[in-house]
Parts: sequence; structure tokens; C-alpha cells
Amino acid sequence: MGKTLRVPFFDYQAPFRERGGEYRAVFEDVCSRGAFILQAEVEEFEQRLAKFVGVRHAIGVGNATDGLTLALWAAGLEPGSEVLLPAHTFVATAGAVRLLGAVPVLADCGDDHVIDPVSAERLVTSRTRALIPVQLNGRVADMDALSKLAADHGLMIVEDAAQALGARYRDRGAGSFGVAAAFSFYPAKLLGAFGDAGAVVTDSDEIAEAVRLLRDHGRDRSGAVRRWGMNSRLDNLQAAILLVNLRHLRGDIERRRAIGRRYEEVLRGVPGLALPPGPDAEPDRYDVFQNYELEAASRDELRDALSCGGVGTAVQWGGRGLHQFPALGLAAKLPRTDQVFDRSLMLPMHQFLRDDEVEHVVRSVFRFTEAQAV
Ligand SMILES: *Cc1c(COP(=O)(O)O)cnc(C)c1O
Repeated sequence: MGKTLRVPFFDYQAPFRERGGEYRAVFEDVCSRGAFILQAEVEEFEQRLAKFVGVRHAIGVGNATDGLTLALWAAGLEPGSEVLLPAHTFVATAGAVRLLGAVPVLADCGDDHVIDPVSAERLVTSRTRALIPVQLNGRVADMDALSKLAADHGLMIVEDAAQALGARYRDRGAGSFGVAAAFSFYPAKLLGAFGDAGAVVTDSDEIAEAVRLLRDHGRDRSGAVRRWGMNSRLDNLQAAILLVNLRHLRGDIERRRAIGRRYEEVLRGVPGLALPPGPDAEPDRYDVFQNYELEAASRDELRDALSCGGVGTAVQWGGRGLHQFPALGLAAKLPRTDQVFDRSLMLPMHQFLRDDEVEHVVRSVFRFTEAQAV
């Protein structure tokens, strides 16, 4: 018997193993120039990112959590305002709202795990001011329905696009639908830095200008303090690393979609599993597969069986929606989200997975479902 292949859920060492030469050159160049804070690489990255997303402005910040906070702050969200967002998201989405003294209000998700517009509309009150669609797992939510909802009730949209760089819906990129959006470059994200990093994107000159001031203590280029702000600058060294990874991004996304296609081929229709929409399921959507989050009737057993076979998996957000963390005080009745957290499991999904690893993952899942069926 050959030794079993081990496929970790995510491989944090893979980028440096595969592209170490490119990063070393950048490190040498940036460090020898001593170019660390708000230097040429930040500016170049911002320009390239804006172009990639299809918006006028991108502003590099410390991380996506700060990015959401700065975007909402710059867009004028006032304390006491209610903000609609899905319960199936990272705590950061609600944390940004809360930090500004506003009130997160949690909506249910649909079968594709992104926010359900019908659930969101039911939660609108006279105090609702904003809506944060979370473009979860690399998939853009139903922005036609959400844009109509926002227009009908006078809400601003700020996207949490942390998981969706490059995703498209009706020929528009994730991050281009609202007044502003935030992206994350956390190492495990589609475009990963070697540490924390993020960006705000917007078509609005005023919001872009405000975020530029806010991320650097309210200071303008001359150093004059023009308003209150904070420190959430994108490190220049991280920007230089991100420029390297941005050059690979289209290929990386296509690799993820190819893996999603293979998962789909082998596992679609298998009893006891509900798969996410496949990469070619809808002509109006281009999903980028930040995660491959399926639902399994026997999730815990599947997870254990995969673990025994050397396949790493994860349940998003530690297995709970935001309404299920008592410390947050956001309890709500969200039946579909509850069901998702009882059943959801993420399979390994990243651009550095080899074909034999992908085959090991699908065969392991398939073998489990066959054993369950007898
Ligand atoms: C990763 C993530 C964030 C936070 O990103 P950071 O850059 O770590 O602050 C926010 N929302 C979602 C949906 C995420 O996946």
C-alpha cells in the first residue's frame, strides 16, 4: 500500500514554495530602498486593483475590517442607524458597523449561502440606513434584487467583497455595486499578502478622498490634519507582494474554477450532498471559489471520515452564524442559516492544489457517500 496523500485544508507555505523567487526579488528591491510607508508600490497596486475591479478608485488599508469601517465612516453612516447584513458572515462585517455606533441587523441566507433579499427586506425599519451584501465564498449576491431593495428604502450599499475579488454578476465586478466596498488580502484569501492587508474601492471621488484621509490620521499629502482619522495604511512591502500576486490572479481564479468543475463532475447528484452552484451553472455569474462550501446530511461523519483519509476540511466561522454567538447579543430567528451551520463543510480549495490532491479529495468524499448508502 502506498502512503496516503495528505491534503491540508489550506497550505500557507505554498505561495513561497511556488513563487519564492519573485517574492525575494521584491523584498530585496523594496527593503534596499527603505520604501516602507505609502510609497510607489502602494500607489501602483491601488491603480491596478481599481482597474481590475472596474472602479475609479482603490485605497490600500490595513485589512478588510478596517476597510469596511472606513468605507461606512466615509459614506456618513451615523450612530444609531440600522444596517442590514447576513448572519452567515465573519464577525468583522458586524464589527465594523458596531464600531461606528450603528446597529447590525441580521438577515437569513438562501440556498447559495449568500444573503436572501426577501429576508433582508422584511427587516427594514424607519431606522435602516445601509445594506452590506457579503459576497460569500467568491459569489456575488442577487444584486438586482438588493439594489432595488436599497433604492426602494433609500439605503446605501457597501459591499463586503472580502471573499470575492474577480467575481462577476451581469458583467459587473464584485466591489462595483454600492457606494464602496472592502477587499481582504489576508493570506488565505484569493489574493493573499504575507500578513494583514486590505483595500477600499469606490467610484465616488468624495468617498475615495475621505478614506485616503481617514486611513492616515486625517492627514493630507502635505501633512496637514484635515479631520479625525486613524492609522490603517497598507504596508508598502505588502503592496509589492500583492503586485506579484495580482499578476497571477486571473490564472489563480481559473485554477479554482477548474477545481470547482471537477468537484461538480464527481459529486453533483450524489445522495446526501448539496453542492454550491457550479462554475458554469449561470451565464450571468462568474464565481471565483474563495471557498467550496457544500452541505452534507451527515456532515460530522463526513468530516471525520475525510480527516482519517488525510483530507483537511473546515466549517466557516467556527461553525456558527453571528446570531449564534451569545456574546454579540444579536440573537435572531434565521432557519436557513441554522440549517447551513448544521450541514456545511468546506473542501480544500486554493490555486496551489495539484490534480492528484483534487482527485484524492473527490474520491474520498465519494467513497464516504457510497459507504453511507449501503
Ligand atoms: C476575511 C473576511 C473579512 C475580514 O478581512 P480582514 O482583512 O481579515 O479584516 C471580512 N469579511 C469576510 C466575509 C471575510 O471573509
